Amino acid sequence: MKNVLSKITLFLVAAVIVISSLGIQPASAASNPFKDVSASDEEILYLWNRGLINGVSKTSFGPEQAVTREQAAALIGRAIGLNKTLRKTKFSDVDPGRYSSGYIQSAVDKGIITGDSDGKFRPYDTMTRGEMAFLLSRAFNYNKTGNVFFSDITTNNTSTSLYTAVNKIAVAGVSNGTGTGTFSPTKKLIRSEFAAFVARALNANYRVAYKNTTVANLNVTVNALNVRTGPSTGYGSIGKLNTGAPFQVYGYNGSWAYGKSGTITGYVSTAYLAKAAPATANSRFITIDPGHGGSDPGAVANGLLEKSINLDVSKRVETKLKAKGIKVYMTRSTDVFHTLGARVDKGVASGSNAFVSIHTNAATAAASGSETFYSASVGNDSKQLATFIQNRLYKAMDHPNRGVKNYGFQVLRTNPLPAALVELGFITNQYDAAKLASGTYKDRAATAIADGIQDYYNWKAKN
Ligand SMILES: [Zn+2]
Repeated sequence: MKNVLSKITLFLVAAVIVISSLGIQPASAASNPFKDVSASDEEILYLWNRGLINGVSKTSFGPEQAVTREQAAALIGRAIGLNKTLRKTKFSDVDPGRYSSGYIQSAVDKGIITGDSDGKFRPYDTMTRGEMAFLLSRAFNYNKTGNVFFSDITTNNTSTSLYTAVNKIAVAGVSNGTGTGTFSPTKKLIRSEFAAFVARALNANYRVAYKNTTVANLNVTVNALNVRTGPSTGYGSIGKLNTGAPFQVYGYNGSWAYGKSGTITGYVSTAYLAKAAPATANSRFITIDPGHGGSDPGAVANGLLEKSINLDVSKRVETKLKAKGIKVYMTRSTDVFHTLGARVDKGVASGSNAFVSIHTNAATAAASGSETFYSASVGNDSKQLATFIQNRLYKAMDHPNRGVKNYGFQVLRTNPLPAALVELGFITNQYDAAKLASGTYKDRAATAIADGIQDYYNWKAKN
């Protein structure tokens, strides 16, 4: 099939040269004869301008109409340059004089289509999206598969399965499903969809990226559980998870779940996963992450080091939380350096169920006040956690309230736990710095953060 593909490429290159030498506008300013196709339906116009697809009449394309098996064979045949010479086919129900007969027989010869066991092709039957996946994966010789999961298709790694065909076209960027992790394999294929799929197969500019969807939120039930690169113990381990670590499942492959915990994405055995217990008074367990440390001082101004303020306040938060009966995991308790990824992984692996990173801000000398961040990209209770802390913090610090802000800091955006990042005040502002140097204010900040975390767990218990 490689030679077929290079022939298409050659054909397209030749066509582009001819078009540009004639001074004709290429596809971006394509002509559009169809009343039912808008200029934004670029894939349809791309195919029509290359003579690969026709309308159902001169002025309508019929985007919502179902695709027949005959139409599909003809479009694929034109797209990959199959021999179209009208001829007798191996099927009793295809008229040799019919426009599609050459494409159908050529596609059979190349193993792209098969008929029914009764020797019939059923040219006027409509196609499903699942049948289309088989057709496209064979026509374009897609061989690469990946960690692709759709909740309405059972994972089946055999080479002839529907799953494998759909997996191949998803990896090739031809289809990313019908939204929220489904592919709808039994749904009737309509002409606009089919045009989009074929255009993507021919032109990388139209391709779409497959994205994982979470189908379950589970927790690890053993310590040192291996996360592997594939669905068996024969695959290498890329990390370990401990009891209680959350695991976002994207899909299942036999007795293995593919998903994500912290910054690790891979396969774990489903024997060691269980449904997460809802938060109760007994499951108040938080990670406190004192920002920076070791070789990384963070911001430095007014004779102060950010890493030292962060650690001092964090240790006070730890003491106050423990006094409230809230379990605490500290990503560091001494002056050491950890990467941002390691901080998230440690917090997740500890089995804690929320994460608060503590920092000190820096900007121009005039900037002053407290602010707390969360990442909206995660879609959990991070905003509530940030809000409960911020509402107490700025008051305790006698500071301007700079508010609760959405920002994709790495420890927030890559964190599967509800997570907040606190900026106590500005080390670069002389008045804020004086408070950050004072034991009284550091203690007030710690009380506010611990109380805010308690507010969060009280709210969780009711929600
Ligand atoms: Zn910082």
